[in-house]
Amino acid sequence: MKIMSINAGSSSLKFSLFEMDTKEVLVSGLFERIGIEGSFYTIKYQDYKLKEEAPLNDHADAVKILLDKLIELQIISSLEEIDGIGHRIVHGGSEYTKSVMVTNKVAEDILKLSDLAPLHNPAHYLGIKAFQEVLPKTPMVVVFDTAFHQTMDKENYLYAVPYEWYEKYKVRKYGFHGTSHRYITKKISEELGRDDLKIISCHLGNGGSVTAIKDGKCVNTSMGFTPLAGIMMGTRTGDVDCSIVPYVMEKEGKSAGEILSDFNKKSGLLGISQLSSDSRDIEDGVKSGNEQCILAQEMFVRSVVKYIAQYYVELGGADVICFTAGIGENSIDTRRMIVEKLSVLGIKLDLEANNVRGKLTKISAKDSSCLLYIVPTNEELMIALDTLEIINR
Ligand code: AMP
Repeated sequence: MKIMSINAGSSSLKFSLFEMDTKEVLVSGLFERIGIEGSFYTIKYQDYKLKEEAPLNDHADAVKILLDKLIELQIISSLEEIDGIGHRIVHGGSEYTKSVMVTNKVAEDILKLSDLAPLHNPAHYLGIKAFQEVLPKTPMVVVFDTAFHQTMDKENYLYAVPYEWYEKYKVRKYGFHGTSHRYITKKISEELGRDDLKIISCHLGNGGSVTAIKDGKCVNTSMGFTPLAGIMMGTRTGDVDCSIVPYVMEKEGKSAGEILSDFNKKSGLLGISQLSSDSRDIEDGVKSGNEQCILAQEMFVRSVVKYIAQYYVELGGADVICFTAGIGENSIDTRRMIVEKLSVLGIKLDLEANNVRGKLTKISAKDSSCLLYIVPTNEELMIALDTLEIINR
């Protein structure tokens, strides 16, 4: 069976087509600058990479080209070969606790939740509509980034603000990267042959979050009402005292929206290093003695350690700490610095085993009090697996 995994952004559409028997990616690609001048797409299949310019007025244009190309490149011989489509959805509110089949109501609910995810949910809705137009009979499933976190206790998801804000406006912690944390949970449980694990999953990419998981369920997570909260990130602040907002508004004559944009786009590794949001550049800066990079790297590490330590206590210890996403999978130095700061808990790294990038690897020392693993994430595959399961039901 073939399943397509889709991630529609406001001006982009990312796709992967999986052969589910082998979990192999048959073709993947990205349409960019949809609705903007200079639109183009890239498609990768076998050993080929194709880049072409094309006018893309809307998501429907991208979907039409995508499906035509699949036939033209002989990846499939007819559109009926696509058995299902899974869409990544950033926000499912409190209502959606698992992946579901797309119905008219589900699509409208996703649009209604735009209030909580104004950059993402409207784009996801457009993605769904574009596919419905061209493939009206193909079953579609939606997979929510927030769903995995809906098992948190109220004590963990509420903010200590007036309770009516929660009741009237749904102000609460939602958590994000749920599809990745769920994939990590599944992968490490398979690897260790146990479902009853206490896991601390560290998704450290350009965006990052740490999640505490017990018996396969999320107990707590570092992102909050929006993906701004939690650990320091590439360009996002992570946790900050919100009194900074009115203070800097007055100093710089900016609006609240502008400060929020600075929090999201000009902060984190970029804000502190004054150089780059990319952890590879920060690492190079550290090696060449750049003081701002050294500071940024140390702040990043401490912010991750703070959450691991909190969740270690909240879970009553941990069986395994997993590192995933761009930095977690690839940055040997960042993992080493994080684990060094956990030595008080008896957690120890095997330095030689840690000298690896992007591979499922056990990296804890033999005498470590808790296992440490690199677990490459695969959100696209998780979306495809959910889609397959739901359409087979
Ligand atoms: P993601 O958002 O998961 O794609 O992760 C992006 C982040 O991963 C960026 O900060 C990259 O610098 C970082 N990254 C990717 N490859 C490496 C690497 N080899 N070493 C260090 N960081 C890396």
